[in-house]
Amino acid sequence: MSRTVYVNGEYVPEEEAKVSVFDRGFLFADGVYEVTSVLDGKLIDFDGHAKRLERSLNELDMDMPMGRDALLDIHRELVRRNGIGDGLIYLQVTRGAADRDFAYPEGATPTVVLFTQAKPGLADAPLAKEGMKIISIPDLRWGRRDIKTVQLLYPSMGKMAAKAAGAHDAWMVEDDHVTEGTSNNAYIVKDGTIVTRHLGNEILHGITRAAVLRFAREAQMQVEERAFTLEEAKQADEAFVTSASTFVMPVVSIDGVAVGEGVPGPVATRLRDIYLEESRKAAI
Ligand code: PLP
Repeated sequence: MSRTVYVNGEYVPEEEAKVSVFDRGFLFADGVYEVTSVLDGKLIDFDGHAKRLERSLNELDMDMPMGRDALLDIHRELVRRNGIGDGLIYLQVTRGAADRDFAYPEGATPTVVLFTQAKPGLADAPLAKEGMKIISIPDLRWGRRDIKTVQLLYPSMGKMAAKAAGAHDAWMVEDDHVTEGTSNNAYIVKDGTIVTRHLGNEILHGITRAAVLRFAREAQMQVEERAFTLEEAKQADEAFVTSASTFVMPVVSIDGVAVGEGVPGPVATRLRDIYLEESRKAAI
């Protein structure tokens, strides 16, 4: 059955949705996006995603195309029209269509697109019990990874390299230190302390990361926000990643080296349970 998607103010069947060939998202990757998860028909961490969208747009001299409440209405309407129980909502805002020129055009109308992806059982992914195998790759992305732009070719290449190596994903490494996963934030646990890279331009400021660190501190767990090396990660007791679509996902091996016991660890498992429980309670 065809989905209903949102394009520039209209709800249309996906086959009829159209964006200009001159759209700067298409020509220059001049656009930003957000992915919000849906559990039991409700949105997880919506306000965090709306705030980060505004920040990403501001960094690129673009305005929010609409206020928080209008954005929320569209998310909810898409959930309703597409009968989403568990799934994801993808949102993209580009600078709009204009004759091709590197300089930002004056007065272009932003393009706003949202669509749903149904993912029944999203919170019960079998991988959470099994744990992810990851490989390491150099971080060859641009220097403003804090802006959630649609230029995702290098992360795609990373996922393909992981697949070719029989792994689930890749962590990116710069100056011997792990930055983040191709589409998630990276963590290790050593002697009970959770370590994850500090915020800066080198990583995306994950919305799930912010929530998980808050829950970890509330549960009296030790947290250190600092860069860690790949070597440290291989010798850690546990490792895991966070993102809106995977929540908290344990990592059990890095470049073929087992992390800890080589099975999902107690800290990652507990944080996943806490995150899911608290997020479901706060879902809107
Ligand atoms: N880091 C990168 C590079 C990502 O692409 C993502 C999500 O897409 C994340 C981290 C996790 O961010 P969030 O928790 O907001 O989904």
